Amino acid sequence: MRDLIERLYREQTLPPDKLRTLLTCCDDEHLSLIRQKACEVAQTHFGNSIYIRGLIEIGNCCRNDCYYCGIRCSNRAIERYRLDKEDILACCREGYALGFRTFVMQGGEDSRSHDEQMIDIITTIRQHYPDVAITLSLGEKDTATYRRFYEAGANRYLLRHETHNEQHYRMLHPEKMSLSNRLRCLNDLKDIGFQTGTGIMVGSPGQTIDHLIEDILFIGDFRPQMIGIGPFLPHHDTPFADRPTGSLKQTLLLLAIFRLMHPKALIPSTTALATLVPDGRELGILSGANVVMPNLSPSQQRHKYALYDNKASMGAEAAEGLKLLEERMKAIGYIIDKSRGDYPGTSDPL
Ligand code: SAM
Repeated sequence: MRDLIERLYREQTLPPDKLRTLLTCCDDEHLSLIRQKACEVAQTHFGNSIYIRGLIEIGNCCRNDCYYCGIRCSNRAIERYRLDKEDILACCREGYALGFRTFVMQGGEDSRSHDEQMIDIITTIRQHYPDVAITLSLGEKDTATYRRFYEAGANRYLLRHETHNEQHYRMLHPEKMSLSNRLRCLNDLKDIGFQTGTGIMVGSPGQTIDHLIEDILFIGDFRPQMIGIGPFLPHHDTPFADRPTGSLKQTLLLLAIFRLMHPKALIPSTTALATLVPDGRELGILSGANVVMPNLSPSQQRHKYALYDNKASMGAEAAEGLKLLEERMKAIGYIIDKSRGDYPGTSDPL
């Protein structure tokens, strides 16, 4: 096991059978070794800095029906909301004053007319704040829409592929969604010039070690600039309400594997991880993550963006809790870096 970890560290890849060994036979001692190596690699590229992104959850209106997600369109029990232009600009004003230089606008997969509004909002943010990075996470769109988002001034796009296995994809999504369209979107985003992020939920229902190997190999080939990894957490009003949460150890192991395979990637320590265990944020960073995304959404709306039960959005998870986050990072030897934190080597980021 020690040799495998050394090899992954040196070569930044492993053949599928060795990945299987790593995923199935990693005991606590080796988990701690691989996490240590992952931190070393992250520190080589980012020092002890952790980038922050202001997360604005712009709305929970969604036409998709993903079986795992609390804002799926079949869930009639949640109150839907949509932030308007003024609400979003107010979040940006507050975030900018707090020092944020990346805004992440995430939401359900909303209508075409909402895409038009988003183009106007992106254009306005770009005019008001020429020095910020604008990240979007708005789901699957056609190529022309992605291009218009980019031309309006967006720089980055997060779209987890969720699973690279067709059968597993079918278990997680209804018929009208397809893995091929998800992958088409990811290729479009990269071709257009977005810094592109993808990723998976760890322990999503039906996920096997073989699926994880497929995901690792896909992400290895795709070379995204950002990798989003968090545990699956159930939501009580979904078909997966009774499924177990993803495992903490497997999430940390995967974070470390991705850091060793993608030394310069921007890898967040996710809200789902911070929801799973109280020190999840710290454990993620101590497994090679280098980004945190405090919540900048209006506090009265936060509970409505309920992807899973008990989602953390206050305290160190909240933009207004930045001081607390800074203290918690300091306690594990890291500092908050308020620069926009592009993927290393990105040319002409503005
Ligand atoms: N609609 C956009 C999309 O599909 O990419 C962005 C919003 S979507 C809610 C953001 C991410 O939340 C998904 O990619 C998924 O991985 C994650 N998510 C949704 N439900 C979850 C759950 N029950 N547990 C953990 N993560 C979940």
